Amino acid sequence: MSEAVTNSIVHGYADKKGKIMIHVGIMGNMVQITIADNGVGIKNIEEARQPFFTTKAKEERSGMGFTLMESFMDSLEVKNNPDGGLIVIMKKIIKA
Ligand code: ATP
Ligand code: MG
Repeated sequence: MSEAVTNSIVHGYADKKGKIMIHVGIMGNMVQITIADNGVGIKNIEEARQPFFTTKAKEERSGMGFTLMESFMDSLEVKNNPDGGLIVIMKKIIKA
């Protein structure tokens, strides 16, 4: 969650102020977390998801945010918001 929210702040809105939507739902043994912003969105999502890909190398970003999200969660969906901005949906199965 921290990686996705940080991305919305530093990439989505950059120098602007903006809203970040956080939704957490539990369905049976699955937790679904959605983080959405109305910032600039991503032109090439497949490329952005690659380990070490960053558009802010000068600001000491490592490009590992999506990779971290992917490794901690069971599924990671990244898509552009039709109204502008980015939507990140993470799912995790909680074992009994
Ligand atoms: P790190 O997370 O390691 O500090 P990073 O943020 O650059 O570095 P990722 O979190 O993997 O790395 O994101 C990769 C790239 O995807 C970013 O550099 C940025 O270009 C783009 N990106 C990620 N989230 C958003 C967002 N919410 N809005 C616009 N662009 C985004
Ligand atoms: Mg990041």
